[in-house]
Amino acid sequence: MRALIALGGNAMTSSTGEATVAAQEAALGTAAERIADLVARGVDVVITHGNGPQVGNLLVKNELAADVVPIVPLDWCGAQTQGTIGYTLTKRLDEAFARRGLDRRSASVVTRALVDADDPGFTTPTKPIGRFLPEAQARRFIAEGQNWQDMGERGWRRVVASPEPREILDAPAVLNLVRAGFVTVAAGGGGIPVVREDGGALLGVEAVIDKDLAAALLGVLVEADVLLIATDVEHAIVGYATPQARPLGTIDVAELTAFAAEGHFAAGSMGPKVEAALRFARSGGRSVITSLDHIVEAVEGRVGTQVTAAPQPAHAEPHQSRP
Ligand code: ADP
Ligand code: MG
Repeated sequence: MRALIALGGNAMTSSTGEATVAAQEAALGTAAERIADLVARGVDVVITHGNGPQVGNLLVKNELAADVVPIVPLDWCGAQTQGTIGYTLTKRLDEAFARRGLDRRSASVVTRALVDADDPGFTTPTKPIGRFLPEAQARRFIAEGQNWQDMGERGWRRVVASPEPREILDAPAVLNLVRAGFVTVAAGGGGIPVVREDGGALLGVEAVIDKDLAAALLGVLVEADVLLIATDVEHAIVGYATPQARPLGTIDVAELTAFAAEGHFAAGSMGPKVEAALRFARSGGRSVITSLDHIVEAVEGRVGTQVTAAPQPAHAEPHQSRP
């Protein structure tokens, strides 16, 4: 059994979203423990992760130091966070394996993801990143070519493209590491977005790829049986935040596609997770959306929103109580 685990924000910062070094070390340590439990059951694991708060911190440094050191582009910020998070995770994973007496090692791959230069996101950027600034300060970065939007009361915020991941360029390396027995961290933050120029050279771009959509693609490329989207809720919910809220247990692609079309899953949070789960299931795998604490039972098919290609024999209710 091979699982691709996509770690969300909660697995990487404190529950308040605090991205101090100590909070990140602690959160990644907890994630490593849960993943080691899965590895102890004989599951081969590839891990991907978000990087929103980490890139947010780097952007603040960019802003504050712009007069002193050159501004670092977004593809470099992505590469830097893959490095730092990959380093921390592999350190914690190897410790967790050793404590369990597991003869396993981890590795981390700085991963590029190919996007189309004519992706509509580049003409109409939609992904807000970094912190809010007053207009006067935003203007300075607009003059440097960045795209900032007036978000109302809280001020201005930078927006970038969130292009569709077309190819995970380092997936063959990841596949070989997994086959060699390494628990591998890859495509963090959705991968470093690059476009291919006419001559064939790769060029990093100012964009942020959705990490769950990149995870679905990487999952297929590394031949995973299960895509496990680990977030802070046990299930995807229809009628979310209404009195009719209902957690989804086992569900097939057709039924979940219909709920998505009805707008049950918010853009920028549960929406891309459901879309990623659908894509992976459509290509023949099983997808699960659940919380980090439940990944062992989730891989075993016992908890979470379990998405399968074929209709289920009987409509299964979630194993866990209603949140
Ligand atoms: P992560 O940072 O772990 O990748 P997000 O915070 O982006 O995940 O998305 C998870 C959040 O999505 C949940 O904490 C919940 O508040 C929100 N959410 C929005 N719509 C739904 C829904 N239909 N079902 C469940 N959670 C939802
Ligand atoms: Mg979050």
